[in-house]
Amino acid sequence: MSETATPPSAPLRARAEIDLAALRANVRTLRAHAPGAALMAVVKSDAYGHGAVACARAAVEAGAGWLGTATPEEALALRAAGLPGRVMCWLWTPGGPWREAIEADLDVSVSGLWALDEVCEAARATGLPARVQLKADTGLGRNGCQPGEDWHALVGRALRAEHEGLLRVTGLWSHFACADEPGHPSITAQLTRFREMVAYAEGEGVRPEVRHIANSPATLTLPEAHFDLVRTGIAVYGVSPSPEIGHPADFGLRPVMTLSASMALVKRVPEGHGVSYGHHYVTPGGTTLGLVPVGYADGIPRHASGSGPVLIDGKWRTVAGRIAMDQFVVDLGGDEPGAGAEAVLFGPGDRGEPTAEDWAQAAGTIAYEIVTRIGTRVPRVYVNE
Ligand SMILES: *Cc1c(COP(=O)(O)O)cnc(C)c1O
Repeated sequence: MSETATPPSAPLRARAEIDLAALRANVRTLRAHAPGAALMAVVKSDAYGHGAVACARAAVEAGAGWLGTATPEEALALRAAGLPGRVMCWLWTPGGPWREAIEADLDVSVSGLWALDEVCEAARATGLPARVQLKADTGLGRNGCQPGEDWHALVGRALRAEHEGLLRVTGLWSHFACADEPGHPSITAQLTRFREMVAYAEGEGVRPEVRHIANSPATLTLPEAHFDLVRTGIAVYGVSPSPEIGHPADFGLRPVMTLSASMALVKRVPEGHGVSYGHHYVTPGGTTLGLVPVGYADGIPRHASGSGPVLIDGKWRTVAGRIAMDQFVVDLGGDEPGAGAEAVLFGPGDRGEPTAEDWAQAAGTIAYEIVTRIGTRVPRVYVNE
């Protein structure tokens, strides 16, 4: 992803402004929510669409002791950009870049024996010990090692490799299924299972630096899940994990991304004019239409056709008809803000603009998906570096 270091002087078709001061403040706020734990800023998927390197740097400046990514390639890219400190990645497939990861001093996650064997082979080849974190499936039913025999075998083989000097078991960790639904019975069940699996490994002789299970919702609502490290993703970007647990401001968080576009055309049309593909909107009377030059190729969800909100000239307008690949239309009700007027799709919300959560509601999805999918054609413009 190209990163624009300073706001370009030429007007842009569209821009995603990334407020790095807000991001740093969010990191400090999250550290205060989990004062006994270190903080990992999760910057996978290009920092949830905000730009991995700039956001990782800002998070580290604000006191994130760890960075986390899904894939090893994402973690290696952070190292290549010069980011120091602890970097962990957890989504491995056979034949992955284990040697590169060891040489880059990454913490790698292992959920099964195939991965442990591959990391040991790479450690022998490089002559360097790997930092390995063992992942337990405490109930999510996704990645992670099953409790019981599987866990015993994984822990046993990891300890033998540690004794041979091939690796250090730096962490024991897991992930929640329903942390965004406070009171869900799976939460306490997973915590109990996690404590048991950690106790087994420690009883066998594992001495992890960090034990961790908390994502953003658990960091915000579940202190007993903080352990040694919290892994916060969405909250770093100032977005609430779920409207049910609260708004960003309830937790002292502020949305980092503001998505805006420059209106490409404003024109008068008569009553009964069909708008956009399929004519799902027909003007109820003579009106003005505004053309907003972003579409689903830019990550604007087509499911928000007829419902997505936009702030133009101080008023909320709604997407009229279908969102197309590159553009959509709003009914301006006779107003004529003029081509070049700013259309704000979402932002922090305190200038009256909609939020990513509003778009999530309009599209029937979660705000994670709204920010993460903003496409590469939209330049990220960093402010408050
Ligand atoms: C994405 C991810 C996180 C961060 O989740 P948020 O809900 O965005 O805080 C933490 N841990 C793992 C394993 C993840 O994949």
